[in-house]
Amino acid sequence: MHTIDLPRHLLRNVERPARYTGGEWNAVKKEPADGLTRFAFCFPDIYDVGMSNLALHILYDVLNRRDDTWCERCFAPWVDMEAGMRAEGIPLFSIESRTPLRAFDVVGFTLQYEMSFTNVLNMLDLAGIPLRSQERGEDDPLVCGGGPAAFNLEPMAPFFDFAIIGEGEEVLGEVMDLVRLLKRGEIAGRAAFLEQVAMIPGVYVPSLYQVDYLPDGRVASCRPIREGIPPTVRKRVVVDLNEATMPAAPIVPNTEIVHDRVFLELFRGCTRGCRFCQAGFVYRPVRERDPEVLLEQAVRAEGATGYDEVGMLSLSTSDYSGLGPLTEGLVDALTPRRTSLSLPSLRIDSFSLDLMEKASSTRKSGLTFAPEAGSQRLRDIINKGVTHDDLIRAAGLAFDGGWSSIKLYFMLGLPGETMEDVEGIAALAREIESLYYRRPSEKRRRKLELTVSTSMFIPKPFTPFQWEPQDTRESLDEKRKRLRELLRSRSIRYQWHDLDTSYIEAVLARGDRRLADVIEDAWRSGCTFDAWDDRFHLDRWLDALRGRGLDPAFYVTRTRGEDEVFPWDHIECGVDKAYLWREKEQADAAQTTPECRLFCGDCGAAVFGGGVCYGKA
Ligand code: SF4
Repeated sequence: MHTIDLPRHLLRNVERPARYTGGEWNAVKKEPADGLTRFAFCFPDIYDVGMSNLALHILYDVLNRRDDTWCERCFAPWVDMEAGMRAEGIPLFSIESRTPLRAFDVVGFTLQYEMSFTNVLNMLDLAGIPLRSQERGEDDPLVCGGGPAAFNLEPMAPFFDFAIIGEGEEVLGEVMDLVRLLKRGEIAGRAAFLEQVAMIPGVYVPSLYQVDYLPDGRVASCRPIREGIPPTVRKRVVVDLNEATMPAAPIVPNTEIVHDRVFLELFRGCTRGCRFCQAGFVYRPVRERDPEVLLEQAVRAEGATGYDEVGMLSLSTSDYSGLGPLTEGLVDALTPRRTSLSLPSLRIDSFSLDLMEKASSTRKSGLTFAPEAGSQRLRDIINKGVTHDDLIRAAGLAFDGGWSSIKLYFMLGLPGETMEDVEGIAALAREIESLYYRRPSEKRRRKLELTVSTSMFIPKPFTPFQWEPQDTRESLDEKRKRLRELLRSRSIRYQWHDLDTSYIEAVLARGDRRLADVIEDAWRSGCTFDAWDDRFHLDRWLDALRGRGLDPAFYVTRTRGEDEVFPWDHIECGVDKAYLWREKEQADAAQTTPECRLFCGDCGAAVFGGGVCYGKA
């Protein structure tokens, strides 16, 4: 198929044409020889967001290391570009070679969040690829999915030919070997391919599973449609992260992106077990990279990109066992080159002034803490192992260290939350504010900037709260208003996340296959970029749900029983459902569970044979 010639007038009329023109430093170009398997890595959001995603860089590198494969990138065009492309009849194309997506062998979407689902449909439509797996023919690309939202793929099940559950770099090689056989005619067509790919551990082929429902709408069962297909699909993980590939020369965008720096992935998983956090459970067990490996990766990637900032990346950076030596090594290596080091998501109970001082030797920006809840009782319910004294001590250390800009993250609507807990958020913020102003004036060179940010709690699959209802919209609204009232101060800024988006996200997160029609209807009524508050249309989603006879309350505000069959029960993230229920009971009793390094609760993740479960993080 021909490549696309992008008309100049089209690029002139869109915001940030560099999102579409490619040609970035370190982007991979190959000669599209016969026999080269073509993979389009699609990120269902704009370039600026997608290029900030580490998985994209890793999988791009893993696929392009294969001589027989060329992986290119594709992002959702922003609305201005989409309008222009539709008006000119230009199909969706890859960035590297501007080849229409329809000409690829595999079109793979990373599903980072549920609110990108309509963008997947929009991208398939713009590409001219039939939306549903059953409508695709032998000449259409295989459409696959992956990423955290693929752990419950059910609302999107009919749109995907297959999905990778878990860490893609572990599975993609086996999948691509099979795609090659299909391409060479050694597998007799698409249907046969899907049956074979379903036998690869970690690969889920939704069309090979049938879902039955109870009269009240709950799932009765989800079973393979024929013998031989595995009844459950267990995620795959990279057991030894030191052996996992990291791009030696990541792509450097030509335009500003959300996280514009070298990423350094310290470890995967999290030992803490915060009960609301899906990532903390689905990425178990914790596996760390050695500091020497990270140091070498950082220096190499910095040299290959010219970035002036290296950012540590992981779910809970300060839990990394080699953080001290790594920080020192990085500062020693990067400071002479005037490259700065950023330390995100520090837990304030293991906060180290010394470390912050070192990391900020070249640049001092704001600090972010995530107490998540305003009272100790609620922090115990969610298993956020941090106390009031930890928080106050950490804020004091930050002020001593010269920081005056602090952001505090909380969630509203957590299970068991009362208005007293909400008021506790304001009380904590006020205490931190007065702590700052009680310091001698010579220690307060700048005005305090304290930001309190709240998001709405969304019960997610594979967490102890998967049985819990989401708080009602009325109650959440009341809590938000109360907090806004209590936080009126010149030093405190209150930010909150949109209620409406969280409501639909809660529908989709624990949704079943019946929602596929709703998602398609919502998209047909004009919904795209639902994660962007100003592009989100609650009324269209509610109409789509009503139109299919589905009540959002069934998905959002209903309490599930212990024996409920979940739409995602045939997917195994490694943490047992029985363990999650035990954790839910602990939450009901406001009892905490120690982190993995102190106590193994036997969650099931030891089945993967490595990481913290075996004393090697
Ligand atoms: S098996 Fe034990 S150590 Fe391993 S992830 Fe589960 S609770 Fe943590």
